[in-house]
Amino acid sequence: RRSVKYISTGVKALDELLGGGIETRAITELVGEFGVGKTQLCHQLAVMVQLPEDKGGLRGKALYVDTENTFRPERVVQIAKYRGLDPQEALRNILYARAYNSDHQMIIVDEAKKIIDSEGIRLIVIDSLVAHFRAEYPGRENLAERQQKLNHFIGQLLRIADLYNIAVVFTNQVIAQPDVFFGNPQKPAGGNVVAHGATYRLWLRKSKENTRIAKIFDSPMHPEKEALFRIAEEGLLD
Ligand code: ATP
Ligand code: MG
Repeated sequence: RRSVKYISTGVKALDELLGGGIETRAITELVGEFGVGKTQLCHQLAVMVQLPEDKGGLRGKALYVDTENTFRPERVVQIAKYRGLDPQEALRNILYARAYNSDHQMIIVDEAKKIIDSEGIRLIVIDSLVAHFRAEYPGRENLAERQQKLNHFIGQLLRIADLYNIAVVFTNQVIAQPDVFFGNPQKPAGGNVVAHGATYRLWLRKSKENTRIAKIFDSPMHPEKEALFRIAEEGLLD
């Protein structure tokens, strides 16, 4: 995969863990409990992608699909300033779309295909992937339909990532489970469809105060290593 490129997370330890950063032509999943920093990392990546290549970016724009209304422009301003970008320009380079339901979420991504090249979009963020699907197709009786729709959506994301050589990042919730999953009494939502759809799966967990621990799971190619980072005013830092 020669033309694959990387977007730096802005955290050296995390980039090393990922083997260079967030990859294009791939889907990276961010999973972890509430407040762990999934949305913070999405904000940071939407800024990092704009940097020139020698600073870890792809000189590109981001499409930010927000399903939970947690996008905060003022956070982008803080992160952009720290990374040496003009904050207003950084905001203009994030194409923001609020997705009101799962169908809307899919339509936004489908429509986005028309502008990826002309706008120079190099990153698509979906925060979060499954929340709408879970709310709209609750319970066992809707499971098959939910998973089928989710599968369709992830397939669409994979095709776009590959065709346009861009990075796709989505966040995922954890759900409680009776068995222990990688040392956690929780597992990612979305079941097998999400597990197989994501190229890379990054598990985030809380440590002391604003410190967080990241680990790649479900990957035969990555070491069982962990990376530490912290969440600060300036964004995510080593
Ligand atoms: P959810 O599952 O609820 O969407 P999440 O994983 O997306 O959770 P975030 O919203 O990304 O969680 O993280 C919130 C956390 O980020 C806060 O609890 C705080 O620790 C940290 N944080 C947010 N803004 C700042 C800031 N300006 N300075 C320092 N830390 C911050
Ligand atoms: Mg969030």
